[in-house]
Amino acid sequence: MIRTRFAPSPTGYLHIGSLRTALYAYLFARKHDGKFLLRIEDTDQGRFVEGSLENILESFAWTHVTIDEGVVLENGEIKQKGDKGPYIQSERLEIYQKYIKVLLEKNDAYHCFCSKERLDEMRKQQEENKLATGYDGHCRNLTKEEVDAKLENKESFVIRMKMPKEGVTVIDDMVRGRVEFQNKLIDDQVLIKADGFPTYHFAVVVDDHLMEISHAIRAEEWLASTPKHIVLYNMFGWETPKFAHLSLLINEKKQKLSKRHGDVSVIDYVKKGYLPEAFVNFIAFLGWNPGDDREFFTLEELEKEFDFAKVGKAAAVFNIEKLNWYNKQYIMKMSKEELAKRCESFFQEKSVDVSSFDLAKIVALEQGRANTLFEIVENTSFIFALPEYESSMLVWKKSDKETTKVNLQKTIEFLENITGEWTRENLESSMLTWIKEQGLGNGDVLWPMRVSLSGLQNSPGPLEIAGVLGKEETLTRMRQAVDKI
Ligand code: GLU
Repeated sequence: MIRTRFAPSPTGYLHIGSLRTALYAYLFARKHDGKFLLRIEDTDQGRFVEGSLENILESFAWTHVTIDEGVVLENGEIKQKGDKGPYIQSERLEIYQKYIKVLLEKNDAYHCFCSKERLDEMRKQQEENKLATGYDGHCRNLTKEEVDAKLENKESFVIRMKMPKEGVTVIDDMVRGRVEFQNKLIDDQVLIKADGFPTYHFAVVVDDHLMEISHAIRAEEWLASTPKHIVLYNMFGWETPKFAHLSLLINEKKQKLSKRHGDVSVIDYVKKGYLPEAFVNFIAFLGWNPGDDREFFTLEELEKEFDFAKVGKAAAVFNIEKLNWYNKQYIMKMSKEELAKRCESFFQEKSVDVSSFDLAKIVALEQGRANTLFEIVENTSFIFALPEYESSMLVWKKSDKETTKVNLQKTIEFLENITGEWTRENLESSMLTWIKEQGLGNGDVLWPMRVSLSGLQNSPGPLEIAGVLGKEETLTRMRQAVDKI
């Protein structure tokens, strides 16, 4: 059975890079009819950020990536689901204590009583002498009696793993292929900290084993730690999972994606009005592609197609223009009724009362124009309230004030007497013919009409807007424009 997991630390909002990791772990599990777990790695209590667990789970709910086991959000409440829990590491301390005893008894781990001062001094010396930094093994060979005496004395301690001093550890990585590490270069990693909590390295091994994780899929930054983990698996006599280390996400300047350079948390993109289906499609392509020129994939399609053989080793570039393009395409493909539904909360956010409007017609004005739901709401606000504008804006570049006024008046007269249904299509056919008959230019008539209806330099076309505004409001706005000139 394939079992994968996403193991975030609750230290902040869900990062887009973490979402990519989680998405690949999820897709891989789904493709092989396996299970996808979510485990919370909160052993570094000092880095805990209030609300981050909720944020992580809410971001997941938005993407429609479903969690089969572990920590889940059900009806807004955080729950744990499955028979291999608890799935929050701070609730598993007894388990880690049990397993560290096993290593101590096998002499694969040892108590280290070195003070912070000693460790600082050691590091300073190593740096000064340009030596590799790392624990020097001072407590590695303390006798049982020495250890017992110090414990009796209540001296503070950590527990370290006894890393073998020779040999190599090999990772057969699903993305990076074979990677070798010299054991002698690897530190005696702390497994249990002075506060009794495990370190990430110890907890991740114990938990991945007990939770029967078959594939550990995670970010590249953990690759250097993996040999320690493999050695720990060997010490316990446990089977190692398969590993996949995903390469970094970078921006176009080849920098690691970080808050300093822009939005990095999923919630930022939710707030800006990206559609989850577009966002997931875009994220999936950061490092994976189907091997042909198809670009649009639903989550279900990704579940069928995803394959580690097609995941690249190179750092993936997060290109906001590409994301905007995806989002715009998805907006264009959506029915206007569905789009209106998706925009509702954004209108609410702006305190726009949409109750007496046909929202579907309004948002359709921006289909093919706007990149995000937020932009749709921004760009259609002129429908609800005409913005202030300068009268000079009404004058088309090849025209003058006088002509503009006359043309607007003529247009009003024409529109007052128009018969047939007031729709964009009808307006288009009758008005364009009328303009020709009058021997006028399109720009002379349509530009001032458009500005009088939108009050904007750029907007959808005047007949589209008129169709949405209705006859009465269209004529009112045009008469106001005439008065302005
Ligand atoms: N807690 C680690 C993180 O937040 C998990 C790494 C792993 O997947 O092993 O990156």
